[in-house]
Amino acid sequence: MLLQAERESIVEFGKRISSSGLTKGTSGNLSIFDLDTRLMAIGPSGIGYYETRPEDVVIMNLEGDIVDGDKKPSSEYVLHATFYRKRPGVCAIVHTHSTYATTFASMRVPIKAVHYVIGTSGSATVPCAEYATYGTPELAENALRAMGDAKAVLLANHGLVTVGPTLAEAFSLAENAEFVAEIYYRTLAAGSPFILSDEEMDRVIGKFKTYGQPKKE
Ligand code: 13P
Ligand code: ZN
Repeated sequence: MLLQAERESIVEFGKRISSSGLTKGTSGNLSIFDLDTRLMAIGPSGIGYYETRPEDVVIMNLEGDIVDGDKKPSSEYVLHATFYRKRPGVCAIVHTHSTYATTFASMRVPIKAVHYVIGTSGSATVPCAEYATYGTPELAENALRAMGDAKAVLLANHGLVTVGPTLAEAFSLAENAEFVAEIYYRTLAAGSPFILSDEEMDRVIGKFKTYGQPKKE
């Protein structure tokens, strides 16, 4: 089977987005882009994360043709392929309908820097893309445009998309974005959130470049 390791990662992280509460039912989807073959491994449409097996993961080229697999791919395959075509360095995508991020997406309100960890997105805010129907090329273009050079975007009345060089990083960012959305919601409910300045967020974003253990070459 093509891209066996990537298929296994999609299954593993699917279970993680499900068990961490970032998705309900079959909502959301994951993919990995392989630079060598320029193919993406993407989860199947409408199959539960705990039911998905590596052979159910679909391998596609960036034109949207199925190269390997007998399942129908995620209905958001155009969104995933659009990011891989147009954002060099992006090799993994996580899409969720996580509750607090989707709350702001449903008000079409960006998530602001109420907590510094939002800086893992490479930006001081998570912007909200213009609305388009799920699974359409228009949704993909709106999401790409609103995300800019950052790594997270809200989809109006829909959910959240995060991107990264690896699935682990895109997944971690989805968790962080949901955490900050929840804190933002709670501070709005309890009183007045204090939003960190752009200057402070620039400093935080700079520090995140060397956060954690040194990268192995
Ligand atoms: P799929 O099950 O087709 O991936 O759809 C879920 C979803 O979130 C669509 O936006
Ligand atoms: Zn969705």
